[in-house]
Amino acid sequence: MSTKELKVSAIAEGTVIDHIPCENAFRIVRVLGLADTDDVVTLGINFKSRKMGKKGIIKVGGRFLSREEINKIALLAPDAVLNIIRDYKVTEKVRPEIPNEITGIVKCANPNCVTNHGEAAQRFRVISRKPLSLRCVYCERITGEEEINFL
Ligand SMILES: [Zn+2]
Repeated sequence: MSTKELKVSAIAEGTVIDHIPCENAFRIVRVLGLADTDDVVTLGINFKSRKMGKKGIIKVGGRFLSREEINKIALLAPDAVLNIIRDYKVTEKVRPEIPNEITGIVKCANPNCVTNHGEAAQRFRVISRKPLSLRCVYCERITGEEEINFL
């Protein structure tokens, strides 16, 4: 990320999520509960990106993300880069990766699935990363990217 982008609203400490597909930027805001936070949140979309054409950026002041939050971001923004900011400087870059198996994050799209009736924990095999496609271990229903509902 260039210094120019950082300056738009520099944060002293926190996380800058870069390289988000624009269409998923608002979903990530929702998934991370950023609409209901006291943290300073800046959301930008349609930034020019050499790699993606257009991209979204979310800056969250005063907050570092958990492993589970990073895994959720991986599902919605597989090319994202998380810049960890301390004292206005990027001290670490984290690239979220979609694991081969996903447990307890996403709901199965099949309403009749045992996991939607409290009988088993949600578990998926990742069939494809781009486009994202998850197969439920229990009912074998495929959940596609646009169907993803987080727990
Ligand atoms: Zn299922």
